[in-house]
Amino acid sequence: MTKEFVDVLIIGAGPSGCVSASYLHNNGVKIKVVEKTRFPRLVVGESLIPRVMDHFAEAELFESLDKMNFEKKLGARFIRGEEICVFDFSKKFGEGWDWTWQVPRADFDNTMAQEVIRKGIDLEFESEVLEVSFEGKNSKTIVKDKDGNLKEIHAKFIIDSSGYGRVLPRLLDLDTPSKLDPHSSIFSHVKDINRPEGEEGTLISFDILETEVWLWVIPFSNGNTSLGVVGPTDFINALSENKDNAEALRNAIQLSDYYIQRFKGTEFLFEPVKLENYSRAVKKMYGDGFALTGNSSEFLDPVFSSGVAFATESGMLAAKLYLKESKGIEVNWEVEFTEYMKRGIGVFTTYVKEWYTGNLQTLFFHQPENPDVKEKICSVLAGYVWNEENPFVKKHDNVIKNMAYLLDREKESK
Ligand code: FAD
Repeated sequence: MTKEFVDVLIIGAGPSGCVSASYLHNNGVKIKVVEKTRFPRLVVGESLIPRVMDHFAEAELFESLDKMNFEKKLGARFIRGEEICVFDFSKKFGEGWDWTWQVPRADFDNTMAQEVIRKGIDLEFESEVLEVSFEGKNSKTIVKDKDGNLKEIHAKFIIDSSGYGRVLPRLLDLDTPSKLDPHSSIFSHVKDINRPEGEEGTLISFDILETEVWLWVIPFSNGNTSLGVVGPTDFINALSENKDNAEALRNAIQLSDYYIQRFKGTEFLFEPVKLENYSRAVKKMYGDGFALTGNSSEFLDPVFSSGVAFATESGMLAAKLYLKESKGIEVNWEVEFTEYMKRGIGVFTTYVKEWYTGNLQTLFFHQPENPDVKEKICSVLAGYVWNEENPFVKKHDNVIKNMAYLLDREKESK
């Protein structure tokens, strides 16, 4: 068996792995990335939020992505019957990027991976991690390459960015049930032949079909649009009972008064994919010689498009903390990694929960709009969930619930 020796082994070349890889390489660390599939590969997670731009810029991946002319995402629209609420990232509380992209992930992730390779990083496609063993912080990983050959990779540290592959959570028994209720989704892409001219055609939208059921519409600059339905697992299973996923997704689109005409008769570009009970959690996010980043650690819910942002936030942070430790500076992984990540995850967990209770929808659609409240919520939706000057971050535990209660009382008393 051949042997390789690196400082850091990164498992998975999604956004989390690529950001880590690029940052560490730029700082002189010897790394290797192993990726199970051949890119481009299909993956869900197409609506980004502005916070990711900080990470792509810092990892020096921004320019290569910017050249691709992906559709710019300047905000997001939420629709509930006749009611519309549009968030504009340029009207948010505090500092931060005003825009991001909405992207077909196959192309987006491939662009990043190719840029990583162009920088001289050793990224090996079709190489699957099978086993990992640790001796103290040092690890030995067995990888099977595309020809079926096995090799040993010896590393001082592993960043596990394997997404739903969840390599280390599986091998080290770190999985734990998510605290969120079980939700599922069916999605595909269509050729958007009836796309209207101008903003209406390109605006990313979330159409609420029932309090807990919503449809995403994510137009891409290549003329295709991603469509997905999300809801409680029981609802999604009932929708797809005795039907194929295509019929189930078509039936969900029929429930949208807003989009029924635009997507009538459009063909799916691939068999719609069902993702059942997609939320994930782990017992711990790091250990001796490794850190878990992105979906390999925690995934909440697609409703506020936080997945890629957490993937790049944790990927960047794990890389920085490894670098610090490698220079002989002590790192408190519990405080600097887990507690930091958990603060942001905690804010979004509240927003996800309050979305599905309907409380957040009460705030979104209340008329007249309160611009002060809106800009603070907008900052959260942009991913700036560590800015404790924002009361909608600092007091996330009860501010939405309390405000929705007052608005409901006000409505009842009219
Ligand atoms: P990934 O992008 O999944 O990359 C992991 C990589 O690891 C893969 O390429 C995989 O092949 C590789 N791998 C796996 N196992 C192994 C192995 N054994 N050896 C080597 N390599 C391996 N997020 C958003 O930001 N916006 C959205 O709109 C959004 N919508 C979503 C909708 C749904 C229904 C769901 C379920 C999720 C959604 N997400 C969204 C979340 C998003 O998909 C993820 O958070 C994001 O892709 C995580 O990135 P990552 O780099 O951690 O993992």
